[in-house]
Amino acid sequence: MFSITGIMVLSFYNTLSKKKEAFKPIKKGSVKMYSCGPTVYNFAHIGNFRAYVVADLIGRYLLYKGYKLRNVMNITDVDDKTIRGSVETHKTLAEYTQEYAEEFFEDIETLNIQKADVYPRATKHIAEMVEIVKKLLKKGYAYKGSDGIYFDITKFKPYGKFAHLDMKGLKTGARVKQDSYDKEYANDFALWKFWDEADGDVYWDTEIGKGRPGWHIECSAMSSAYLGNTFDIHTGGVDLIFPHHQNEIAQSEAANDVKFVNYWLHNEHLVVNGQKMSKSLGNFFTLRDLLAKGYGPISIRYVLLATHYRQRLDFSESAIKKANSTLERLYNFMAELRTIKSKDVNTRIEKVVNDTKNRFDNAMNDDLNISEALAAIFDLISATNKAISEKKLGKINAQRIYGLMLEFDSVLGLRLGMEELVWHTTDEAEPDIAKLLGKREEFRKQKNWKAADAIRAELLKARITVQDTDEGPRWRSS
Ligand code: AMP
Ligand code: ZN
Repeated sequence: MFSITGIMVLSFYNTLSKKKEAFKPIKKGSVKMYSCGPTVYNFAHIGNFRAYVVADLIGRYLLYKGYKLRNVMNITDVDDKTIRGSVETHKTLAEYTQEYAEEFFEDIETLNIQKADVYPRATKHIAEMVEIVKKLLKKGYAYKGSDGIYFDITKFKPYGKFAHLDMKGLKTGARVKQDSYDKEYANDFALWKFWDEADGDVYWDTEIGKGRPGWHIECSAMSSAYLGNTFDIHTGGVDLIFPHHQNEIAQSEAANDVKFVNYWLHNEHLVVNGQKMSKSLGNFFTLRDLLAKGYGPISIRYVLLATHYRQRLDFSESAIKKANSTLERLYNFMAELRTIKSKDVNTRIEKVVNDTKNRFDNAMNDDLNISEALAAIFDLISATNKAISEKKLGKINAQRIYGLMLEFDSVLGLRLGMEELVWHTTDEAEPDIAKLLGKREEFRKQKNWKAADAIRAELLKARITVQDTDEGPRWRSS
């Protein structure tokens, strides 16, 4: 998909058409994007964060390309899981979900994920949900059952197309009340659930009855409330294709008679030993678990980012360690560029710089080919280092490369160019930090790992990451 200039046009793999398509927003120069956000019933795990880092990468790249971006990510603060959690902990739903919503916002900041423009909460948009359900009832797509209002999937002819369901194999007329279910239960799904005892004091008294929304209607209502009935991009993990996104399409298109979303982008899973990381399997790490082990947040971000979003990402701690060394190389490179003083100008390296920019853009335009984009950057680093070692790099060249690296970093979000991210030795620390580092070294020599880890945790609270090397401990702000 190349344009006449030989530069690849921006294209995304669209789950809707199952192929790569050139990206054309509805309104030239601006993009409306919606991402399914967290269900705030617990800490998000880093599998979830892969989904949010991918959405961040898409958003950042669109901004880099010069698009105006309207970016919305919802917060699911009422569903089966949040209600169960609030009942079990004897908290109100609002108290219970607020805690995890706050943790989520803290975590995305730690991972340097750019803030969306709006984070709508489901409980604040019940009126819009009720309106859609009323419309669906009126148009005959929905009906009242004994325990809720359901969407009749046989009435929406394209139902199942998006998720590749074999509709012939399904018994019709059966219903599924819970929010999450598998393909074999692809039956009429709940739009509105009438109150029952398990819901405790969670209900809304509305024109369509006393109850609460199903999970799927929440995203149909919130996306349209902020982006209109048709918008450009919708993101989420592949596990959301069915039933969540299939149901969003059915509800929205049946209610509004217009196409819901033009481009659907889905990230593959983060897996551990071949299995999807998930709460139910218990094979998960939260971001906090990893920070407490001493890993830097940007190293974690790098791991989440550096595998193409449509490939499974095999997660391991050794991958974070490797990312840490890669980042170190990047930070040291940035620091070195600032030391170049020579007045010479190396014209050959200028060409490498231009080629790198084209290579990066072409790679990212190709459905965000991140590995090729990163390879372009590392080739630039090698070429520059060679020029430096041959004393053939001028200050002007170095500044140009530095600027380009910062431009790339507006997409990658690796905090390049921040001096404090360079690793330091203990001598370079403020006295109180140096003292803690010294104490930690002593404990380590005594093999008192517990005490040494306690100091590491203390340092982390002061946002100091420590790394042990053959030459002793090194530290940096994180
Ligand atoms: P949830 O809070 O379960 O609705 O998930 C929030 C987001 O994280 C959704 O976009 C999911 O598809 C995504 N997600 C959940 N588990 C994983 C995983 N192991 N790898 C990648 N994305 C995931
Ligand atoms: Zn959603």
